[in-house]
Amino acid sequence: MAKPEKLIENGIRLDGRKPDELRHIKIKVGVLNRADGSCYFEFGGNKVIAAVYGPREVHPRHMQKSTSAVVRYRYNMASFSVEERKRPGPDRRSIEVSKVSRESLEPVIFQEYFPRSAIDIFVEVLQADAGTRTAGINAASIALADAGIPMKSLVSACAAGKIDDTVVLDLNKDEDNYGQADMPIAMTPEGNITLLQMDGHLTREEFGEAFELAKNGCKAIYELQRAALMEKYASQTEGDVVE
Ligand code: ADP
Repeated sequence: MAKPEKLIENGIRLDGRKPDELRHIKIKVGVLNRADGSCYFEFGGNKVIAAVYGPREVHPRHMQKSTSAVVRYRYNMASFSVEERKRPGPDRRSIEVSKVSRESLEPVIFQEYFPRSAIDIFVEVLQADAGTRTAGINAASIALADAGIPMKSLVSACAAGKIDDTVVLDLNKDEDNYGQADMPIAMTPEGNITLLQMDGHLTREEFGEAFELAKNGCKAIYELQRAALMEKYASQTEGDVVE
């Protein structure tokens, strides 16, 4: 899309959202039979799948740690996930996204429970519309829980930023392209921040405002993550009781 004249008019964004509104979220837990845990996560125009394997043996062996598990995270964008075909395979961006996403989840995983083993997280982006790293982290956090990996808590992620001098929650692709700032964060339900990145510029006041918006977004996402896990596991527990 060419640069629109305005990204926000009378407090309403081009996609009809208010400044503090998240895009629509859809979550499905346990979508892959061969993974130990998995999750499909739709976040506006983003569609991602996370698959978790492990704890399992580490290959190559020299990567193993004697006192804890190694957590590996591979973020990958399908070549058909963006408007112009993306060259398949890793690039600088996906390596960076993989690293920061792994670091956003490591603090909640009890890695010391599984020495010499690996916990592998794969995130495949099927459709991208800005916010794929946060969608991936949200999906991966649920997939880890679905795999039964012991964790202190879930991790929830979303971005806030600035368009047309207005601080807004959860930028879509056009807002990301033509906006002034984008700041993805990840957070535990207790409010511990495990990811904070910033693209663009915000004043100190705007940063405070954006940070509050993003934290509220994470809280709302946490409730949806929890509900999605409950939907799968509460019904199974009820089933057990009936039997
Ligand atoms: P995030 O997806 O986490 O917001 P970026 O800010 O790096 O990460 O990317 C914003 C958006 O730009 C992506 O969601 C995607 O829609 C688009 N994009 C990223 N990389 C590419 C690429 N190689 N080719 C085309 N579009 C891309």
